[in-house]
This record gives sequence, structure tokens and C-alpha cells, in this order.
Amino acid sequence: MTALQAPATPTAYGSARLLAGVTHGGRAELALHRTLHGPQQHRTQGVLVSETATVRLLGRGGAAFPVSTKLAAMRTGSSVEVVVNGSESEPASHKDRTLMTVAPHLVIDGALVVARALGTRRVTIAVHDAAAHASLAQALQERRRLEPHPERVVVRLQQDRFVAGEVRALLNGLEGRAAVPPGRRTLPSDRGLHGAPTFASNAETFAQIALLVSLGVRGFTGVGDPREPGTTLLTVAGDVPVPGVVEVPTGLPLDALLRPDGVHGPVLVGGYHGRWIADTSGLRATRPLLREAGVPLNAGVIARLPEGGCALAEVAAVSSWLAAQSAGQCGPCLFGTHAVAQDVAALLRGRPAPDVTARLRGLVGRGACAHPDGTAAFVGSALASMTEELLVHAERGGCGRPYLGVLPLDGLHS
Ligand code: SF4
Repeated sequence: MTALQAPATPTAYGSARLLAGVTHGGRAELALHRTLHGPQQHRTQGVLVSETATVRLLGRGGAAFPVSTKLAAMRTGSSVEVVVNGSESEPASHKDRTLMTVAPHLVIDGALVVARALGTRRVTIAVHDAAAHASLAQALQERRRLEPHPERVVVRLQQDRFVAGEVRALLNGLEGRAAVPPGRRTLPSDRGLHGAPTFASNAETFAQIALLVSLGVRGFTGVGDPREPGTTLLTVAGDVPVPGVVEVPTGLPLDALLRPDGVHGPVLVGGYHGRWIADTSGLRATRPLLREAGVPLNAGVIARLPEGGCALAEVAAVSSWLAAQSAGQCGPCLFGTHAVAQDVAALLRGRPAPDVTARLRGLVGRGACAHPDGTAAFVGSALASMTEELLVHAERGGCGRPYLGVLPLDGLHS
């Protein structure tokens, strides 16, 4: 068993939108992109706010914040910065780097729509993945040659680290500082890149904005769940029928991606700041619904571990890795995540960890970023959904199954 990998060709359930025109090894160059999605369009800020509100567009990174609210709060003018967060620092996620690699012009179109709406020409696309960087750089060259525009779009290859994808960490990195979250919580819309008001969002969010202006509200809402219409990108990984990056209509039952035969096991939803659940019955790929169910979709990772391996060992390995990702500037995060990782390691060996619940509680809301909260969610939900595994380990000192190393821990963008 190898680590979770996305296959070379992403696939779509139903009609592809974001992945339209993508074939094996394919990349939508500018001419194909224009054939598929039409000419570059623009909107005023007011119209874009209205349209993104009507289609209930949510950010496709981690927080799923309403795009219309974020856009409405933005000041306008030539000093405003637009930042595409293409960092995808979640190790188990491949969706954004895949999107930027195969459909770079869709992301750029969306960024230009936002820039024009906010009255600025300043667009920065930040990525951690070399292939995505190369594809975007090639796309910008194509535009300079075939379709010049007044906006200055730059693509920057940034430091590849888990917390470096947090938006304020990303902005620090773009300014040449350490790519860690600042100690205080400041909204980028107030003070972002180089101190300017900044609209920053995930790469897929910008691609969805491009789709919205291309399809129109009616076309955009023609598929998917009414609470979050359209399609969404997911990375489906592990012991599943079709692993890899998929585009699905929102509202698709998770079981359609996991086990059509109805067999369940611990499933990770949302990635390494996500949650484990023992049973996915009734869950659908819609952010509002999943949030109500207590399993936010975050970066869109859905992973099912193979039955032949030790699930608790996978959790212990990721817990230890998460502790090592702490930027070390908030005490509860630095010490708390390491203590929790040691607790999980003890449980793996069949030893008691009586303080783990209190330690997990002590992580919540205690950092300058969401890392301690995310770590607590990952570990706490694992312990809650793997009660049988914990019992076996406690009784026998282990389950006898090997650690397969299925959940990737390093080489984020190999
Ligand atoms: S909570 Fe942790 S990762 Fe986040 S800024 Fe503080 S030390 Fe760094």
C-alpha cells in the first residue's frame, strides 16, 4: 500500500464544469479555455456581490465563508490587493493544485473578475506546488501574447509548510517574512498584503467565480444542492472505488464516493484539520449540511483507510506530524499538540492516556490560528469514532495490523 495519491486524470461525476475539457495529461490552454468558457467577463462590485449571494457561493478553502459577504466588505481602489491562495498545504488534498495545473485560465479569469470589480490591477497567485506554478506561469505568457489585459498578475512559488497556507501566514510569506500566522488576528480585508486591503480566497473559489460569470446565475444553479448550488472539487483517497480528484455536484451522497456496497469504516472528512466519522450514511457533499452534521468539508478531503492496516497508527502518525507543524509561537499550541500526540502514541501501545480529553479541550481557541483547534478536532473525532480499535489496543497492546503509512506526512507536493 502506498501513500494516498491522486491519479493523473481527475474525473467528474455528472457534467464537468471546472474540469471541462480535461483529458489524460491534458491542460486547457487559452484557446480551448475560451471555447469552453467564453470570453473574459467582468462585473461591478455590486453585481458580483448580488450574484455570489444568489448562488450562495462559499469559499472553497477551509472556512467556507460566504464570498458575497467578503466581497461586500471590501474597499475599492487601485491600492487593493487580490490574492489567490493556491497553497493547498493540506497534505491529503490535491484538488487545488490539480485545478491550477489543468485549468489555470479559469482561476485567472476569476481573479480578474474580482480585481476589476474592486477597481484594482494588483493580483497575486501564491502556490506551493511546482507543477501548478509552471502551468500558471505558462498561462500568463499565453495571455500576454494572445489576450493582453491591464491587470498585473504575478504567480509566486511559496514555502511549502502546513501552517504556511493559512491566509495571514501566506501574506507574511509573500512579504518576505516567515510564513507563519501573525500573533494577532487581523482581517486581510482591513490590512493585508503590504498593509493594503486585500481580498484573499482559495484557488477553487476564484474558478467558481469565473464559472458564475460565464454561466450566469441560472446556469450556475442548474445542478447541485439548493443550499450550495453548483459543483465542488474533492480529493477522495484511500480504500475507495475511484481515488483521486473528482468534481461532483453538491449534494452527492458521500457513500457514492466511498462504498456503494454500504460497507463502512472510519472515514476522514476535511483532511488533517477535519473529523473522523464511523458511518457516512446520510451525509452529502454540501458544506452547509456537513457543517450542521459536525463534519465540515474544509479543503474537500474524504479518505477511507484500508481495513488491512492499523487505523490508530495512522492517527498517531498524523498527530505527531501535526505537533511538528506548530509554528512554536503560541504556548498552548506548541506544548498542547505535542502532549496530545504523546497521548495518542500511548493509546496506540495500549497504555492509558487519562488526560487526553482535558488536553484536547485545552487546545480549543488557544492559538493565533486554527491549528490547535484543527488538531483537537482531528484527534478527538478519531478517538470518538475508533472505540473498537482503542479497546483492542488496550486489551492486547496492539491490533496486530501493520502501520501502512497511508496518510501522507511529508513531501507535500511531490
Ligand atoms: S496556533 Fe500554533 S500554528 Fe498557529 S500561530 Fe500559534 S503556534 Fe503557530
